[in-house]
This record gives sequence, C-alpha cells and structure tokens, in this order.
Amino acid sequence: MPSRAPRLAAKKSKRPSAAKRLYGRRWRKAAKAFLDSNPLCRQCLSDDRTTAATVVDHITPHRGDLVLFWDVANWQPLCKPCHDRKTQSGQ
Ligand SMILES: [Zn+2]
Repeated sequence: MPSRAPRLAAKKSKRPSAAKRLYGRRWRKAAKAFLDSNPLCRQCLSDDRTTAATVVDHITPHRGDLVLFWDVANWQPLCKPCHDRKTQSGQ
C-alpha cells in the first residue's frame, strides 16, 4: 500500500516513550503465553472469586526497568477491574 507510506512516516517521527515502547509485539506474545498458563486473576482468587485474567501486571512497578519488566517472577495475572484498582491505588 504505497499510498499509506507518507502517513506512516509522519507517525514514526513522534517517538513513543521508553516505557510505552516496551509493550510491543514481544511483550504481547509473552503476556499471552503467561495468561495461557495463568488464566485466573490472582487478586480475585485470594478473595475466593474465580475471574479470568486479562492483564499481566508487574507486581513491582518496572518504571521502564528492563530487568523488572521481563522478570516473570514479577508478573501476576489480573482481571481488568483488579488491575485498574491497583493502578488507581498508586502502586
Ligand atoms: Zn480480579
């Protein structure tokens, strides 16, 4: 699609933040594999609820730190409401 090239090039000049760039194809693939083997929201489980997890949350916020970002031990499966609650509580 040659007609699209100029628009894409214009978009590329606006570079996303370092943290945002982490969530690329590699992350989505890793997160999907993680949720496949950890399909239930951990927070809901601890509250005796069974909810499908849709988000991979970083237990310790990575703030762009690659080691924390890719450390599977720092990942937990959460559903969207639990993840939003955690994010809103400032963690
Ligand atoms: Zn939940």
